[in-house]
Amino acid sequence: MTDFYYDLHLHSCLSPCADNDMTPKNIAGMAYLKGLQIVALTDHNTCSNCPAFFKACKKYGIVPVAGMELTTAEEIHLICLFPTLKAAMKFDSVVRNHRTPIKNRPDIFGEQIIMDENDEITGYDVNLLSFATDLTLEDAYKAVDSFGGASYPAHIDREANGIIAILGSFPEEPAFSCVEIHDMTLVDALKKTNPIIKNKLVINSSDAHYLTDINEAVNSVALNCDISKANHIREKLVKNLIIKNNKVH
Ligand SMILES: [Zn+2]
Ligand SMILES: [Zn+2]
Repeated sequence: MTDFYYDLHLHSCLSPCADNDMTPKNIAGMAYLKGLQIVALTDHNTCSNCPAFFKACKKYGIVPVAGMELTTAEEIHLICLFPTLKAAMKFDSVVRNHRTPIKNRPDIFGEQIIMDENDEITGYDVNLLSFATDLTLEDAYKAVDSFGGASYPAHIDREANGIIAILGSFPEEPAFSCVEIHDMTLVDALKKTNPIIKNKLVINSSDAHYLTDINEAVNSVALNCDISKANHIREKLVKNLIIKNNKVH
């Protein structure tokens, strides 16, 4: 088993709410400086910057994970992570058909910039990405699963777009294996009020919208894998997030 420092919730300049300095190359560089080994890009309702992120991470020896922070029809934020870039891009093309067709107003919501691995702008997403999709929580869980991915509710300790605040309590179904908790001092209290999360793996990621907010090397996950192969590490990680009753590291 090898421990890997991770941050699995980050927004690039494609998310309207994220800083334009959150370019794929800058994120990879900052993650390297912070000592992270596995980093997931999870923009709102899109994976369009994941191809550039993969190439940028390769230069820094970081294991990239292609992901998305999906907004469900209930306005719940769901972290979706995939074992391959290809699977993520296929999921992306499915989600595209479920977005609310509202045009972005960059002057109000922020720019949605698509880049290559050298931080050259290759386009803009004109559809406002922060809006809810019409995929229910159940639909989204099944869709991610059908592409071999792992999904789990984001920042369940938060009022805004947190599953507990929206549903009133943590649901039994879908049977999530993990939860993301932003403020780790709240873990015990959350387990008391929602005992169902006691046997779930707790993931703590930054939800960084600015480079300085990317996590330091504080959270790690132990994986039994060939450490010389990024795709093997990524596949093992995603599998680990799907398997139930994991231990928290
Ligand atoms: Zn969120
Ligand atoms: Zn987020």
